[in-house]
Amino acid sequence: MHTTVLMRRLITIHYLLITVFLASCVAPVTPVEKFSVLTHPDGPLYVSDQVSFEVLTPTGFKSEGYEVQVRLGDKELGRAGFGPFGVGGRVQATLWWAWDTTHLQPGPETLTFTILPDGPSWQETVTMYPQSGVPPPQPQARWAAAISDCCALNYITGTAAERDMAVLAQIADEQAASLASRLPAKANEKIPVVFMPRVLGNGGFVSDAIYVSYLDNDYLGGASTQVLQHEFAHWFDARSGGDLRPSIFQEGLAVYLSGGHFKPEPLIPRAAALLELNWYIPLQTLADDFYPQQHEIGYLEAAALVGYMVETYGWESFNAFYRDIHATPDGRASQAIDAALQKHFRITFAGLEEKYLEFLKAQPVTESLRDDLRLSVQFYDTARRYQQALDPSAHFMTAWLPDYKIMRERGIVADYLRHPSGMNNRLIEALLLNAAHDLRAGKYDRAEITLQAVNSLLGMLVER
Ligand SMILES: [Zn+2]
Repeated sequence: MHTTVLMRRLITIHYLLITVFLASCVAPVTPVEKFSVLTHPDGPLYVSDQVSFEVLTPTGFKSEGYEVQVRLGDKELGRAGFGPFGVGGRVQATLWWAWDTTHLQPGPETLTFTILPDGPSWQETVTMYPQSGVPPPQPQARWAAAISDCCALNYITGTAAERDMAVLAQIADEQAASLASRLPAKANEKIPVVFMPRVLGNGGFVSDAIYVSYLDNDYLGGASTQVLQHEFAHWFDARSGGDLRPSIFQEGLAVYLSGGHFKPEPLIPRAAALLELNWYIPLQTLADDFYPQQHEIGYLEAAALVGYMVETYGWESFNAFYRDIHATPDGRASQAIDAALQKHFRITFAGLEEKYLEFLKAQPVTESLRDDLRLSVQFYDTARRYQQALDPSAHFMTAWLPDYKIMRERGIVADYLRHPSGMNNRLIEALLLNAAHDLRAGKYDRAEITLQAVNSLLGMLVER
């Protein structure tokens, strides 16, 4: 039997034993009160790794004019200034692949970190494990690419993406063709797609390429092809003109065009269930402050708003409106939307919301739809709570997202292959995987019990 399947069964049966076990052996998660260092690749380091450092500052540290120097003995490995990192803007110094460990012997190595110009200075000891112990598919794994009609599909050999590449290429071509028919983008280049064998953020993001997590036993529930379509929608949207393109419509459009957020789902009845759960966010709040809202609620509400507008005004008129939104002097997206709505549809944003709410209230909401929504929100909140506590480099606010082009040039694969794999990570990921399966199968009671278990375990880990 596959190890993970076995583990899931054990966990289901022996949750209480595991609780006791965890309570007795885990290290507490404490707030950062002094400089601290994260190394990459995550997990144990092996001889030949190209190691990066994130140096996090203590609360209240004024970082301007300071930098950090990292030394191994007398040799300087690198230095970097402090600045905001990631979506969350965490203040840190980041030294990308500063330490080439190729010629080291296995064993402890002591690194010296110095804040320049006037300290402090401290040492960190890391253990280098022999290269022979590196987990598969390393050391053979390398970057490779498949070219399809739409895309250059980048992957690491020996991963699930390589195994499934023929199917993935077909899915990518179908999705890209379908989106190109709605949003005829101007660029004709092959779209760069990167399949990452690690859960990062919410499973995908887009910058100068589309990055999607693709792996077996994905504890976010294996939504990779749905996420791929979402990121394709962003790609085509960004190349189809427009000016302000407020986040509420960018994300709403991506979910609407991919027919669901993490799975195909009836967006409008699902948004109606938000009202029954008292989770509806006023549109002005959502428009002006989109990303800080609860992720699944904000995206769903935005997607159903796009759906409602397309149903009411037609796709072409909606698209013309969306591409004709311009910033107003107060800098608020809600004001810009209001002005464009009045120009295109002779309606205010408040007037649109009134009609949108009437429309949602007329939708039938089944109990299973409501349960599915409620537990989906709980599931992703729990998964993010896990990331924050035990895999911070996966959490979307502080995700470790190296550029695949540099990795490919330098032959680096470990940053996307490895992640914290201690016993706590394995147990909680297995529980999340269990909950994801139950949620998808409509076994809501079971999913809820498992999520409660994960939350009580995480509570113990954080509070001890
Ligand atoms: Zn998005």
